[in-house]
Amino acid sequence: MSEVTLDSLTKRYDEEVAVDGIDLTVRDGEVLGVIGPSGCGKTTTLRTIAGFETPTEGRVLFDDDDVTHVPPEDRNVGLVFQSYALFNNMSVLDNVAFGLKMQGVDKEERRDRANELLELVGIGEHAEKDPRQLSGGQQQRVGLARALAIEPRILLLDEPMTGLDAKLKKRLEEEIGSLLDELNVTTLYVTHDQEEAMVMCDRIAVLNDGRIEQIGTPAEIYERPANAFVADFVGTSNAVSATIEDGRMDLGFATYDIDDIPETAEGTAIVRPGDFRVGEGDIEGVVRDRYYLGDRVRARIELPNGDLVTVALDPSTENARTGDTVSLVLDPSGVHVLRSE
Ligand code: ATP
Repeated sequence: MSEVTLDSLTKRYDEEVAVDGIDLTVRDGEVLGVIGPSGCGKTTTLRTIAGFETPTEGRVLFDDDDVTHVPPEDRNVGLVFQSYALFNNMSVLDNVAFGLKMQGVDKEERRDRANELLELVGIGEHAEKDPRQLSGGQQQRVGLARALAIEPRILLLDEPMTGLDAKLKKRLEEEIGSLLDELNVTTLYVTHDQEEAMVMCDRIAVLNDGRIEQIGTPAEIYERPANAFVADFVGTSNAVSATIEDGRMDLGFATYDIDDIPETAEGTAIVRPGDFRVGEGDIEGVVRDRYYLGDRVRARIELPNGDLVTVALDPSTENARTGDTVSLVLDPSGVHVLRSE
């Protein structure tokens, strides 16, 4: 496995800047997620690492090797795409062994390694089948086994869960997540689904308009978003105007003592729905909408100053109905303040 570094990577197509000076290191053995809205440059970044695109500026390094101009077939990367791209009319086993054949590995060893990998991804019993006889989730595992067979320097996954049903997707996220952990494979994982990235990845890079807005662990990105874009893109948040003075934070609807931001500041407080709870608090509000989501209830509550805030309720204990007036408690320790520029 290798550490992979993007050094001031830029990719332009005529007028369109797809990737705009990205500096990024995928550490050896790490699963790094790349998330962001449609068109932000996720796939272009991945394709540049794979060698399908040549950067307009900047470099791609695998450890200390500059591979910027090395053709894809000589980079030793493993690829898994959303369309499984398996070879039909070729057994599952031969699919997995294909890359090894290209590398000139002899037949016996190819079969052994392919069988081992199929066992590892949990579909050993399907080795002799045609891929079309397998379910979507099973085909995706074949794709993963095939990508891992060549012992790639980096594994590149582009929206691999797309097209799978929600339940299977959840199970695969957990299974593949722990498999990648165990195998210590350097992985770049592209997805538009931030929850998927949070389950699967050690760190996440949030992209917007070809640039990195923030890189951090899932918790850092959720709890300490670097800016309003990240706060808005990752999870649900309330952006509330905040004034901080003499160790007190004024959110308009309530004021709190806080320790960690002593200076005077104007800014935006990012308040996550889970920072609120219904209780004997000093914030009165009226429930305007309420969505039942099984393990939680999401409510939009109108505060006396007219602000609408999204609040996560515990469905087993908090029974706020639309139109009810409720009293809210806010845990200020979860609130993160973004300074005004
Ligand atoms: P999505 O989530 O929709 O797949 P993405 O984040 O992967 O999007 P990219 O596919 O990397 O985004 O595209 C980034 C930008 O570059 C887009 O504006 C896109 O239109 C443009 N782009 C990508 N490939 C090409 C190309 N071959 N020619 C011209 N423009 C391109």
